[in-house]
Amino acid sequence: MIIQLEPNIDQQSTDSLLNSIEQIGYKSTPVNTHGANYLVCVGSKDFDIRTIGNLPGVMDIHRVSDNYKLVSRKWKVNPTSIDLGDGVIIEEGRMAIMAGPCSIESEEQIESVVKHLVDNDVRIMRGGVYKPRSSPYSFRGLGMDGLKTFYKICQANGIKIITEVMQVSQVEEMHDYIDIYQVGSRNSQNFNLLDALGKVDKPVLIKRGLSGTIDELLQSAEYVFSNGNERLLLCERGIRTYEKAYRNTLDLNAVPLLKNKSHLPVIVDPSHGIGVRKFVEPMALAGVMSGADGIIVEVHETPEKAFSDGQQTLSFAESAKMIEKIRKTFELRQSL
Ligand code: PEP
Ligand code: MN
Repeated sequence: MIIQLEPNIDQQSTDSLLNSIEQIGYKSTPVNTHGANYLVCVGSKDFDIRTIGNLPGVMDIHRVSDNYKLVSRKWKVNPTSIDLGDGVIIEEGRMAIMAGPCSIESEEQIESVVKHLVDNDVRIMRGGVYKPRSSPYSFRGLGMDGLKTFYKICQANGIKIITEVMQVSQVEEMHDYIDIYQVGSRNSQNFNLLDALGKVDKPVLIKRGLSGTIDELLQSAEYVFSNGNERLLLCERGIRTYEKAYRNTLDLNAVPLLKNKSHLPVIVDPSHGIGVRKFVEPMALAGVMSGADGIIVEVHETPEKAFSDGQQTLSFAESAKMIEKIRKTFELRQSL
């Protein structure tokens, strides 16, 4: 149950409301977002919703029986729109493209990718400066120095930045240099990180965990939302299955399901999803047809020399071709 409170609710009404919630055996958590104040209540007993709905100080009340509530479409019917400023908007009815290298490597590399994006009218660049790597001996990113250079070049070219944040202490230091925080697959259930990202005023893209269920992804998003940050994106990036013929199994079933269950935009990552360069384009196009609101993809001037994930990274020529096809496929989808 989600209770929206009157903006000017007084202490007496708050106390009597909390008391009534307790009496029906529900536990409540206050949530303050940019928009309003709520009580998110969890419990299992049936009760007459009017006993709460008619109390003074209650503006609106919704029954939401799922584990996740604030990210559910049962509560918020209208799709969430993420406005990054300067005309860059991610929302249902548009096709966002985010492209760039797996890792930020050098000033020259950032400049070459930015030029490729500008040439192809792509407004959001991806690139990790803190890299989660399976081996401690692999390249682990340029850190804040790399991010500052990344930011300077993107700013000068009207490009927005999405980059991975790996731990709570990085949230604040990265804040002024990014447009979207990316929570990587390995951190999809880092609840302390999710709590911290709920308290910032920048959008957060949450990737599905390596073996995460759809319900778990939605509950991770609920962590961020219930801490006050509504500007969230969900990302399907493939899950680990018994199949070894490719890196991961891109679960495109998740896309229509997530769109149905949640009001948040859904982004597909075909690069990590299949992990094989020559199959990235068809899976990107399949992602578009499955109903995604955006595609995030790895691109590099010389993929074979990339510091990480070169095997799944597109060259600029491959990327340009794919971007054109993504846009055509999206138009087709909209016309059906
Ligand atoms: C990445 O985007 O480069 C990355 C590490 O992604 P994931 O968390 O999906 O593995
Ligand atoms: Mn990568």
